[in-house]
Amino acid sequence: MGAAHDIAIAGCGPGGLAAALFLHRLGHRVTLFERFEEPQPVGSGLLIQPSGQAVLEALSLAAPIREKGARIDFLKGVSVPSGKRALDVRYGALGDDACAYGVHRALLFDTLYDAVRAAGIAIETGRTVTAVEIEACGGRFGFADSTSSARFDCLIDALGARTPLAPPSGHDLAYGALWATLDWPNGTGFLDDALDQRYRRAHEMVGVMPIGVSPATGTDGAAFFWSVRADAVEALHARGVDPWRDEVLALWPETVPLLDQIADTRGMVFAHYAHRTVRRPVSARFAHLGDAWHSTSPQLGQGANMALLDAAGLASAFQQHSDIADTLAHYAWLRTNHIQIYQALSRVFTPLYQAGDGIRPFVRDQLVHWFAGLWPARTLVAAIVSGGIGWPLRPMALDGEQTFTAERVTASVP
Ligand SMILES: Cc1cc2nc3c(=O)[nH]c(=O)nc-3n(C[C@H](O)[C@H](O)[C@H](O)COP(=O)(O)OP(=O)(O)OC[C@H]3O[C@@H](n4cnc5c(N)ncnc54)[C@H](O)[C@@H]3O)c2cc1C
Repeated sequence: MGAAHDIAIAGCGPGGLAAALFLHRLGHRVTLFERFEEPQPVGSGLLIQPSGQAVLEALSLAAPIREKGARIDFLKGVSVPSGKRALDVRYGALGDDACAYGVHRALLFDTLYDAVRAAGIAIETGRTVTAVEIEACGGRFGFADSTSSARFDCLIDALGARTPLAPPSGHDLAYGALWATLDWPNGTGFLDDALDQRYRRAHEMVGVMPIGVSPATGTDGAAFFWSVRADAVEALHARGVDPWRDEVLALWPETVPLLDQIADTRGMVFAHYAHRTVRRPVSARFAHLGDAWHSTSPQLGQGANMALLDAAGLASAFQQHSDIADTLAHYAWLRTNHIQIYQALSRVFTPLYQAGDGIRPFVRDQLVHWFAGLWPARTLVAAIVSGGIGWPLRPMALDGEQTFTAERVTASVP
């Protein structure tokens, strides 16, 4: 590695925090900027795939995820009323150890944030970034209060899908989902090692995912989600909780113990999904990372994992170059192929699971039913959701403190 650089990272999500840790450990002087006074996780649960686990392993931070997250061996979906399998993913097809972890967002956030604080990385909170000004040898962030940061050698945008630092791209999807974090319904027969969903064609979907121990309460939690068109959310709230409850029960009667925890639909968080990719992710001194570069619907459960992979890619590029323009160009090269593959996969798969009616859900059910019995297809589907298609880790050279022990996970992918 060459000289130590002054690096500014905007955004304390998984991508920004992981990048800050990697770059600090490489000897760079890192400052994080975050709009909240106290950085905090937003949203319910998420899946840490083998790809994301590998990055956390490289940061020596995988242990809390394994200990407190819920081990997920299957992704399962059933079409109602046919009973056909609409989703059937078995991580075991990639090897006995392969699995995902369902986690509270707070667990991933706390794990990364505590490590950032323990490392003494500078964090400026209450700083809403609105602009980036690039100069000949560096640049500055501009803030909502019309002030600017000090000058940095390199600036990273990890502000998430609604970043103000990238030109508009992509489009919002018609659908999103209402999410709630609930207590795990012990003793009710819900699978504690699977993300489980019920579909009526592709226009209705309800899902339940174990997310392990809540850092806040110390009890086991469940992420519960209900697919809904963005333009129908307000009408759903206006009708009140009872009609909605009846709709959910018609699709999955056993969800009573979960629905009993939801007194008002407005207590759930609506997440509106978007497909977007920034065309020019890097310039000589500035780069986008995570959702600020690329975002998809969460159907494939990749977003946080992709952000972690970006952070690892950025670290790998900084290890191999001292010139910042070369570093950022290498970072873009390391990540572009994998991102393009997953953007394409998301475009193919999302309409099979969230869309108005048509022939697609029918074809989906026939194909999944048939595919699930074939071992090459089972391995391919598991590899897709594991995040390993395109071997994202293979070209990354992470060494020293960042020992890449989980390379085998992606190396086993066809
Ligand atoms: C409902 C839902 C379910 C999902 N499920 C999964 C899943 O199972 N698996 C998975 O891998 N991914 C999942 N995702 C996607 C995942 O949450 C994102 O891809 C991931 O959080 C992206 O991380 P990031 O660090 O790039 O951005 P973010 O997590 O969006 O972090 C951005 C940070 O920047 C801060 N910020 C934003 N704007 C400003 C500003 N102007 N100034 C200063 N600070 C700012 C924010 O407060 C935040 O701290 C899901 C997403 C949703 C919406």
